[in-house]
Amino acid sequence: MLPKDPSRDELAFLLEGGGPDPDLFAAARDELLRSIGGGVYLRGLIEISNTCRKNCLYCGLRRDRKALDRYSMEPDEVLDALAVGYRMGLRSFLLQSGEMLGRDHIEKVAWILRRCREELPGARMVLSLGELTEEDFDMLRASGGERYLLRIECSSPSLYGRFHPDDSLHSHGGRMGAIRYLRDSGWQTGTGVLIGLPLQTCGDLADDLLFIRDMDVDMVGMGPYVESPGTPLAEVAGPAPDPGTRTVLTLRMTALVRLMNRGVNIAATTALQTLSTDGLERGLLAGANVVMPNLTPAPYRWKYDLYSGKSEVSDSPEQIIGELSERCRSIGRELVLEDPGDPPHYRERMMEMQERHG
Ligand code: SAH
Ligand code: SF4
Repeated sequence: MLPKDPSRDELAFLLEGGGPDPDLFAAARDELLRSIGGGVYLRGLIEISNTCRKNCLYCGLRRDRKALDRYSMEPDEVLDALAVGYRMGLRSFLLQSGEMLGRDHIEKVAWILRRCREELPGARMVLSLGELTEEDFDMLRASGGERYLLRIECSSPSLYGRFHPDDSLHSHGGRMGAIRYLRDSGWQTGTGVLIGLPLQTCGDLADDLLFIRDMDVDMVGMGPYVESPGTPLAEVAGPAPDPGTRTVLTLRMTALVRLMNRGVNIAATTALQTLSTDGLERGLLAGANVVMPNLTPAPYRWKYDLYSGKSEVSDSPEQIIGELSERCRSIGRELVLEDPGDPPHYRERMMEMQERHG
């Protein structure tokens, strides 16, 4: 289905629908079963704050969106939400927020991580807090953080420049450097891109696939771009491809990432599920193996307003897990509880790193 070292043109051809999708998705599923197995792993998502110093043109949390009511969860509220997920059998949790370098925020996260080490044995903590300093990355890892997600968003510097302000806070090189630092300092590292942005081509997405492969990360989280009213990209830029096209592009990207990166974890993202009601099933059938149920308590969940339609589900965590389990079973897959679901890629990468450094 896919040559061993696919070229940009070969990837762009497949992204344009040049190979029959059923064959592509079946090849990705075979690869998943061979390298990891058919289990679906959970990451309980807690959106701890919607404050952000950045101004990404597509994002509903951007600094200049003055209409948004900003919040920061109290550490005890975060621990309570984590405990609910832990009791339900989740063993990995993602703490996500806008980007803030203030000591209060970083110290608070470190405190939560230390408490988790004592109170939630065996739970792998994942962070997605944006670009921090190397000292803060190190400090958070020493406090108990193990996985970090930092999407490059667009691997092409010129495309990145189109969707971010032109200043030092939004530096493509800086973001790239942060991802490399995470990877090389032993974090289980994830990256990903936005799919279906206005003016983005299949050639750009092919470059993203080659970037992800060359970055040698352990986890991939990619989602379709979803309009966020009140942001410059939704108000001013030309139209994005229609939602159906963005969905299919995301599924093809998922399958190709699966085929090009042995043993990595891939999420069926919330954005995919927002654009397509059966996005979860379709993502899993295209090679994804991770789902991130949202455990953020209700008053905050609405305010973590990255894009429109994101938080429409108002179910309790128990209802969310019950429904996920049903939906996985309906496509012959099984939710895996009591297991943090480490990607084989990470174990292999760490072994290689140890051999290199003696
Ligand atoms: N502030 C951190 C983490 C929170 S934002 C960071 O930026 O890394 C998490 C992700 O939401 C971002 O990586 C971005 O890819 C995604 N996102 C933001 N706005 C979006 C939109 N309009 N559509 C789809 N995804 C979006
Ligand atoms: Fe802030 Fe992340 Fe949104 Fe950019 S994508 S504005 S860094 S929350």
